[in-house]
Amino acid sequence: MQGTVYKSTGSWYTVKSEKGDFIECRIKGKFRIKGIKSTNPIAVGDHVVFDLEQIGDETTGIIKEIKERKNYIIRKSVKLSKQTHIIAANLDQVFLLITLNNPTTFTSFIDRFLVTAEAYDIPVVLLFNKMDLYDEDEMVEVDYLVKLYQDIGYHCLEIAAKEGENVDKVKELMLDKTSMFSGHSGVGKSTLVNALEPGIQLKTAEISEQHLQGQHTTTFAEMYDLSFGARIIDTPGIKGFGIVDMEQDEIGDYFPEFFKLKSECKFNNCLHLDEPKCAIKQALEEDRVAWSRYRSYVQMVTGDEENTYRER
Ligand code: GDP
Ligand code: ZN
Repeated sequence: MQGTVYKSTGSWYTVKSEKGDFIECRIKGKFRIKGIKSTNPIAVGDHVVFDLEQIGDETTGIIKEIKERKNYIIRKSVKLSKQTHIIAANLDQVFLLITLNNPTTFTSFIDRFLVTAEAYDIPVVLLFNKMDLYDEDEMVEVDYLVKLYQDIGYHCLEIAAKEGENVDKVKELMLDKTSMFSGHSGVGKSTLVNALEPGIQLKTAEISEQHLQGQHTTTFAEMYDLSFGARIIDTPGIKGFGIVDMEQDEIGDYFPEFFKLKSECKFNNCLHLDEPKCAIKQALEEDRVAWSRYRSYVQMVTGDEENTYRER
């Protein structure tokens, strides 16, 4: 039988079969997925093959095989000596909630998030939330950001989760897909999910409280079916993704507007920093590439969070 993992507690996996039943499954033996050493062999979202096992009047399952993952996201635990935990697999898209204030979402955060998503091969939709709160200047800023990211190729929506504004458009994008919601604490993730499906409780809130208290909790993601025909993966602390290990020279490829231009750089290994005849710097001077994007890029490539790029 085949199914999808909806929940895992470490030793048991709740699998939804193709028929729609939920079956508690275990794994037999070890699963090794090439290239990843993780603390969990199977993650929420995994497509698995399992056999049924009848013990008394209880039916459980034994997972035999994991289907190839389309993508997956990880979290690295610093405490547990950098072990990798697979948070979720086979995501169709991630919604990044952005607010201009309360809290402020900086473009450096957005860009880092987008780069990671590009590296993971997960489409991102940018949701500019709390539109009901912004004054004229802030509206101008939102419009600027929407245009900036739309031009690069990202889908953007302006919403007000609390008012239900454009929530139907979010629903439309979610139909028949598996989605996840990310963004800083306070941007409105729980409010949005509640507007999508009244009554649902996210784990995000409780966990961020615990993080503030400095406690470490093992956190598991969980998948939910929403009544209008969509799935969401709820993970505690879904502020962003775990940092992927990226080579310095691959980061530029995850800025789509840089990638388009890079064949025009003089050097094919151009890092777009101080090299002569760099097409990205040329585009920057001509306002075809945004300074905020370039700044984020330099921060990521040089590992310099202080934003001391050289302006000419
Ligand atoms: P989370 O931490 O991302 O889950 O954020 P919450 O959903 O808990 O929202 C944080 C606060 O922002 C709450 O007080 C919400 O009522 C408020 N909020 C969320 N969306 C909106 C919105 O569209 N407009 C306004 N004015 N407030 C919102
Ligand atoms: Zn270049």
